[in-house]
Amino acid sequence: MGHAVVVGAGISGLCAARALSGVFDHVTLVERDTFAAAPAVRRGVPQGAHVHSLTPGGAVVLEELFPGFVEELAADGGTLAGALDELEIVFFGSRLRQVPLGRVLQVSRPFLEDRLRERVGALPDVTVRSGLEAIEPITDGSAGVSGVRLARPGEPGSAEEVAADLVVDAMGRAGRGAAWYRALGYPEPRVRRLHVDVAYASCRYQVAPGALGPAKGVLIGATQTRPRGAVLTQQENDAWVLSLYGFGKGHHPPHQQQDFLAFARDLLAPDTWRGLQSAEPITGISSFAYPAALRRDFHRLRSAPEGLVSVGDAVCSLNPIYGAGMTVAALEAKALRRCLAKGTAGLPRRFHREAARAVRLPWLFSTMADRSMPQVPGTHPTLAGLLARSFQATMRAAATDARVAAAVWNAVSLTGSPAGLARPHVVAAVLRHWRPGSTTAARRKD
Ligand SMILES: Cc1cc2nc3c(=O)[nH]c(=O)nc-3n(C[C@H](O)[C@H](O)[C@H](O)COP(=O)(O)OP(=O)(O)OC[C@H]3O[C@@H](n4cnc5c(N)ncnc54)[C@H](O)[C@@H]3O)c2cc1C
Repeated sequence: MGHAVVVGAGISGLCAARALSGVFDHVTLVERDTFAAAPAVRRGVPQGAHVHSLTPGGAVVLEELFPGFVEELAADGGTLAGALDELEIVFFGSRLRQVPLGRVLQVSRPFLEDRLRERVGALPDVTVRSGLEAIEPITDGSAGVSGVRLARPGEPGSAEEVAADLVVDAMGRAGRGAAWYRALGYPEPRVRRLHVDVAYASCRYQVAPGALGPAKGVLIGATQTRPRGAVLTQQENDAWVLSLYGFGKGHHPPHQQQDFLAFARDLLAPDTWRGLQSAEPITGISSFAYPAALRRDFHRLRSAPEGLVSVGDAVCSLNPIYGAGMTVAALEAKALRRCLAKGTAGLPRRFHREAARAVRLPWLFSTMADRSMPQVPGTHPTLAGLLARSFQATMRAAATDARVAAAVWNAVSLTGSPAGLARPHVVAAVLRHWRPGSTTAARRKD
């Protein structure tokens, strides 16, 4: 089927390159950054310093794309945590009942990406070219894209044109893909934004086995009255990452080790917190500001250039606290492969519709959860209060009822169908835990 160029070697670009391998005669994966010899946070993916949990649903899709991958990473030092029996998950103030529901792979983002890149680089029909930036698409005068112009960053004289039958924009949320539409004479997709004003701060620690208690991961979600959260997970080779976050300026986590730990003290169990105090920090504290969740409606464009598709965060950047971005990227890669089974004609339209389907529920759930937070502007207080009470009642039910816990976990981890949440038993349990309340009260407390 000719040549495909994937621009951006983050998780979505790696998954897309894997999906295109075997479909096109040749695939070139282009990345602006150069790669260090060992896994490391890199400039183009600053979020790599922060916790990156792969949902069990995401692990299943990655396994389909890269068979044996999960066991390989576990054998290489990664942590497999029993979900939910080896994890402590507190959402909206209630702890999810610890029922056994499969395993979660816990590794750092650089480690995951490094191993994926190794797999992709080993494919005989894929070439990985690093230290090269995509400048703009090229067109041969037809209605579509016929390649892409590349150059070494900051060296316009090094520009080269690479012909391609398909260009995949995997340049992430801040990438140029949408602007390329304008340059090609097409309208840009509509952008939906939900301002959440979340900031993260993270630090990695070397931890003696057992020093942080029996759980391999702790997730304490923000609540309406305490809009701060913490995620502490065991990753590869006895390193743990603690990521703290908060909604709204007064709740953004601090950058100094002592203040950082003080912020964590209010969230973690006393034993876990004490264990952390004696752990050795192996990185400084990294910060990441996440002002808004963002979704680009490529699927609603009436006209779009042939030969150009966008994937991953370029299409939808979900508030990271729900941990779904990599799973959606993997699902989209599978969708791209499915769409290509019908050829390249009309591919952008067909694929962007499929991508919108992969994004729809994670976007709905995460923006509903965000809208229940009084710190997130733009939602009518009555609706925000209703959402808050629904989440709280569901979690109170999930704290004691194994079937509700499983339904919640399947929905948030993108493992099974969220339809489980609508089963009569689950609805009845949630209604039993429903408590009337007032958003105004929640707002005032804050
Ligand atoms: C703080 C934080 C925590 C997160 N935690 C989780 C989590 O726990 N679980 C989860 O599933 N997801 C998480 N995510 C989301 C996750 O990082 C992304 O959704 C996922 O990695 C898909 O991103 P991507 O590959 O589309 O884009 P990116 O990861 O942004 O990669 C884009 C790539 O394109 C390259 N690039 C950009 N422009 C060009 C160009 N012109 N030419 C060449 N290359 C270019 C960049 O260098 C980069 O390598 C988190 C995100 C953040 C911000």
